[in-house]
Amino acid sequence: MIQREELPVIDKASEKTHEGFVPAFDKEGRIDIKSLNEQEILDLLLKLGQPKFRAKQIFGWINKGVENFEEMRNIPRSLIDELNKKCYISVAAIEKKQVSLYDGTVKYLFRLNDGEYVESVLMKYHHGYSLCISTQVGCKMGCTFCATGRSGFTRSLTPSEMICQIEKAEKDCQIRVSNIVLMGMGEPLDNFYNVVRFIQLVTSDDGLNIGVRHISLSTCGLVPRIYDLAEYNFGLTLSVSLHAPNNTIRSATMPVNKKYPVEELLQACRYYAEKTKRRISFEYAMISKVNDMDECAHELGRKLKGMLCHVNLIPVNNVVETDYRKSNKDRLESFVKILEKYSVTATVRRTLGSDIDASCGQLRGKHIRKGGV
Ligand code: SAH
Ligand code: SF4
Repeated sequence: MIQREELPVIDKASEKTHEGFVPAFDKEGRIDIKSLNEQEILDLLLKLGQPKFRAKQIFGWINKGVENFEEMRNIPRSLIDELNKKCYISVAAIEKKQVSLYDGTVKYLFRLNDGEYVESVLMKYHHGYSLCISTQVGCKMGCTFCATGRSGFTRSLTPSEMICQIEKAEKDCQIRVSNIVLMGMGEPLDNFYNVVRFIQLVTSDDGLNIGVRHISLSTCGLVPRIYDLAEYNFGLTLSVSLHAPNNTIRSATMPVNKKYPVEELLQACRYYAEKTKRRISFEYAMISKVNDMDECAHELGRKLKGMLCHVNLIPVNNVVETDYRKSNKDRLESFVKILEKYSVTATVRRTLGSDIDASCGQLRGKHIRKGGV
């Protein structure tokens, strides 16, 4: 997918209001229409010499989830031909689907327009359905415990490709997704403007209309982008993958820490929590004898004391080619108790879909290793 600097649709004056978002083009030079907002679709249609009402019709069809222009029944043939020449509609085709026998969690492997693959996981909670979506094909960050990180980076996803994951899961399971978790493959803040546009589209009344309070974004800690995100003040939940209380352990498992060390990261988190009045959720994957010792809990407690935050402890998922092992139940309980001494609330996260490798990056990895790609 080509990201062009020169925009045929968006003029210089309006570029500012798009806050850095640049639409994608496919190999044939066609624009990704499903990532555009209503105003941009109107600009495009006016440039094609079409009346205003056509833009509204086309925007409506796009939001209904059509997968090709031929499905737009009230659009004349000549315009459909023109749209096919100038635009493309992103799709996510189900390449594989696994359903957990334990809890009904569904894991999808989606094939995108250019043949790349991403994963999404649909989980059922008492409050509704939550979908964990991918934001990139692979990831540049190289965390040693992460299947996605180990598979390298291919490209970032467009806003439309993130929306497609939701629409496809909803259609396939005949349900409505009420919560979105940006916690699948990829680092969302390394794809900042596409993710911002995605949030704007998915929360809009014309779109899937998902409340921003029902969106969580998980980051490995790209500090400057945490400050940028705070400026948007979306009201979403920010999850930060901390996984270690100090730079020695964190740098050994998360290379990003060498650039943005723990102190800088926690300072950015404090700023985010104060600015948005939203509690930060720290993710902590418990790895036996790596980061699960009592002294780690004390150090973490001292550093998080007083912050508007919560700690989620997750027994690390086994990933092939690593020696990392899950911490046992006693370790998890001891960790929670120590954190409580510092008035830091912590819970052990329930793992869903444990029989279907529901941790993202694993299904794609298997598919590639088997020669499926
Ligand atoms: N890149 C973002 C979001 C995607 S990763 C981030 O790192 O936050 C989603 C979550 O899964 C992160 O908290 C990540 O640290 C965690 N994770 C990755 N591999 C894991 C594993 N093997 N076991 C448990 N959690 C893992
Ligand atoms: Fe990327 Fe997140 Fe995996 Fe780290 S944990 S490699 S940031 S996807």
